[in-house]
Amino acid sequence: MIEYLCSMLKNKQDIRLLNADELKTQVLAMGEAAYRSKQLDEWIWTRRAVSFEEMSNLPRAFRQKLNEQFSFSPVVIDLEQKSIDGTVKVRFLLPGHLKVEGVLIPAKDRVTACISSQVGCSLSCRFCATGQMGLNRQLTVAEIFDQVWLLQEKAKEYFDTPLSNIVFMGMGEPLLNFSNVLTAIEKIHLEKGLNIGMKRITLSTSGLVKGILKLAAMKVKFKLALSLHASTDEVRNRLMPINESNPIEEVMQALETFYKETGNRVSFEYILLKGINDTDMDARRLAVLAKRLPAKINLISYNPVEGLTYQKPDEGKIDRFMHVLVEQGAAVTLRQSRGGDIDAACGQLANK
Ligand code: SF4
Repeated sequence: MIEYLCSMLKNKQDIRLLNADELKTQVLAMGEAAYRSKQLDEWIWTRRAVSFEEMSNLPRAFRQKLNEQFSFSPVVIDLEQKSIDGTVKVRFLLPGHLKVEGVLIPAKDRVTACISSQVGCSLSCRFCATGQMGLNRQLTVAEIFDQVWLLQEKAKEYFDTPLSNIVFMGMGEPLLNFSNVLTAIEKIHLEKGLNIGMKRITLSTSGLVKGILKLAAMKVKFKLALSLHASTDEVRNRLMPINESNPIEEVMQALETFYKETGNRVSFEYILLKGINDTDMDARRLAVLAKRLPAKINLISYNPVEGLTYQKPDEGKIDRFMHVLVEQGAAVTLRQSRGGDIDAACGQLANK
């Protein structure tokens, strides 16, 4: 912390804000050979060095020069909570005393890390705790990368296994922090570093048509999930204001393009809210939408959020909804809600 404050006082630039080309330019400007930038890049993104001191294969004089000009602002964990069901929620501390949250979700054959892409969120989904906070700022590439790195360490510590999956379902809309999220995914995927396969990474979006089409054009290899939560524009407009400018039909067409271009199956997240989106008609309309792609539906029973009046449907209603979806030929899984006792469940992250 002292080192960090000193670097702020000296107005040093965070070296992890530079992209590969910028890093090379800086290295050349310091009179060093171009290959040094590759070594530096490797230290930063495959070993997550957080000081120049530890970069043992760089000449001492070069490390000193780097240290005079640049700094590191690593994310640290400042709070950990473990749920009775094994879910672990961590709070990450960022420069400027900002905080975001991440969750580790253990299952029989996997440990999934749920990470954040923004500090807060501007989209104000009515049922979501993060949506009530507003947007503070975008997370940097390094801040997204650090969350995965630190959760990897926690997965080994708590469950004695590395991470198997990453989902961008924490705080924020990843497609509104497009380039940082995509660059971070490349770093998370690096073979010599975290080495997490693209098929084990899922980006979840509230349905931004332009962003989905951009992913399709780039033929990305990771998976995509849509937070759908309603089967009509009328209900979705009420739950998710973003639907007014990105209506369901346009989102569906963008997803069809995504599927055509990437071959990646999409999943729909659907939070069941009592009396709002839980009728047989909703289930039938949802099945029609899912079968167009085809998409797998993940049903989630609502997790209460302090200050919001939404409720989860009773068990019979949830079973009935599932039954109608199956009857209509949709692929559906009922996701067990995890970490509700520590506010780590879907839609509950709010830096409490
Ligand atoms: S559900 Fe996602 S997109 Fe909507 S407000 Fe919450 S974090 Fe933002």
